[in-house]
Amino acid sequence: MLRTASILLLALLPLAAQVVKPSFGVTLQSELRESIRVLIIDGQNNHGWAATTKALKATLEATGRFTVTVSTSPGKKGTKEAWAAWRPTFTDHQVVVGNYNGQPWPEPVNKAYLAFIEGGGGAVNVHAANNSFADWKEWNRLIALGWRGPKFGDRVTVNDKTGAQLRTAKGKGPGAGHGRQHSFLVTVRAKAHPIMKGLPTWWKHAKDELYHGQRGPGENMQILSSAWSDPKSGGTGEHEPITWVVPHGKGNVVTTVLGHHWGGQKDFEALHCVGFQTVLARACEWAGTGTVTIPVPKGFPTDKATSITTPSEIRWRAR
Ligand code: ZN
Repeated sequence: MLRTASILLLALLPLAAQVVKPSFGVTLQSELRESIRVLIIDGQNNHGWAATTKALKATLEATGRFTVTVSTSPGKKGTKEAWAAWRPTFTDHQVVVGNYNGQPWPEPVNKAYLAFIEGGGGAVNVHAANNSFADWKEWNRLIALGWRGPKFGDRVTVNDKTGAQLRTAKGKGPGAGHGRQHSFLVTVRAKAHPIMKGLPTWWKHAKDELYHGQRGPGENMQILSSAWSDPKSGGTGEHEPITWVVPHGKGNVVTTVLGHHWGGQKDFEALHCVGFQTVLARACEWAGTGTVTIPVPKGFPTDKATSITTPSEIRWRAR
């Protein structure tokens, strides 16, 4: 009998180990909740992607809320073997930050990316990230609007008085572009959204490109902020979407057109704008966890003054 019991116990051991494993996993995950796992994708971009990634990483890390990993794709001359070896592990992370504008990704990467978001992962696309993948149908749905010609799809702008979305049909009006770089006023449109909560309704963004005439399916998008595109600086005279959200499956995709930085550009005005950094950090936290705990830091821009600070100098937490 004793022997039978021992055998039974031995037989149960692997089962016990299996039972222990998931509970360990849960403990581990709750411990890691303090640190949100972010994956930045770069490797190709008409912009200075390496310096941009460095700035984005520094901003996220300075908040104390994120652990940031970077996955760099092969370059334009990347061999078949290099592309076959590039398989970012999206599901090891909670948020994927897009700093990529280049050749199509291999099909398995596209599939893995979509599955990641459908399963509840978050994505935050920065500036020229929405220029890429014009031929990837699902991607266009995820970003809602991209840097495309006027015939590609509808244009969406904002009625300044009511905040309502205005659609311009495909083929009518301007396609994607921007006027001269300048600092401009950003208007918060979704004040109750966790990413925007507590931000001043109007804040002055540092010198950047103000994208206009973005085109795409423009469906299911919640516009969080917009900016008036001044004809004096080569703009459209319309309130153009700046940051917006598109839900997909159990996940969410945040797109912001802010954050221009050329390769070799000496200043980091757009990327070091405290407003940009706040929106980036909060967008990553929200897309990754569904909530926002990152406060609006001291020195946030006002409606009259821009605010540019290197990431390590921002006081994210009360001390
Ligand atoms: Zn740019």
